[in-house]
Amino acid sequence: MGEGKIHIRRGPELEMARQSGHMAAEILRLTAAMIRPGVTTLEVEEVAVALMKERNCRSAFYQYRKFPGHICISLNDEVVHGIASASRTIQSGDIVKIDIGIVRNGWVGDNAMTVPVGDVDPATLHLLWATEESLHVGIAYAREGKRLGDLCSAIERTVRGFRYAVVEEFVGHGVGRKLHEPPQIPNHGTPGDGPKLRAGMILAIEPMVNLGTKRVEILSDNWTVKTLDRKPSAHFEHTVLVTKGDPEILTPRARLFTAVPSRPTEGANVES
Ligand code: MG
Repeated sequence: MGEGKIHIRRGPELEMARQSGHMAAEILRLTAAMIRPGVTTLEVEEVAVALMKERNCRSAFYQYRKFPGHICISLNDEVVHGIASASRTIQSGDIVKIDIGIVRNGWVGDNAMTVPVGDVDPATLHLLWATEESLHVGIAYAREGKRLGDLCSAIERTVRGFRYAVVEEFVGHGVGRKLHEPPQIPNHGTPGDGPKLRAGMILAIEPMVNLGTKRVEILSDNWTVKTLDRKPSAHFEHTVLVTKGDPEILTPRARLFTAVPSRPTEGANVES
């Protein structure tokens, strides 16, 4: 964990990162707002691209390791890295993961959320709530003097407490001038492990949480990640600045739920 030097950003660099983060958050919010039954995932991406053009920024994902899309859009049992398609129509009951990373004046902002569409079953809604909750529990550890393992293990502990499963193959990351900078930020770990966090570090924290098995597979498009048992998966992400006091979320948005959704079945997951 935490291989490679972690950048410390200062002064004007922080302001650039903040502006990129706020722009990424605004584009995510406006894109999420147009998701409804009958819209194709390509139409969602087109809206995001138009919003980027209007703001003179560009996708941080397009052509990154040859990724063909401008955003990641992943439905239901797709975990992350889904590719928009004209033949994929969103329906009531779907959950739609949108991951938007932008580059503005050389600085990256990266954030993601899961949008429930129409009539989503209560077990899935609870998964979404728990995943966003685990993100915010993790963010609370983004303080000078904490260890990276404190943050990672807090996310894992929260997810396991709800008897859901953390995806281990994909991780959060440092972010700044590049989309992926050190350190890697797994959603599991050991308290006290890893590098000490310092004010000025910028972290993209992004729990990916499965209702059933933690196991995933990559589809033949070489990008889309799916749960092995085809049960739903949720994903929430913020770009966060470590400070000496309260962490600063550089991609601010309102939380998805204002109250905890009720959970119909307890302990569905036996594997984690
Ligand atoms: Mg990310």
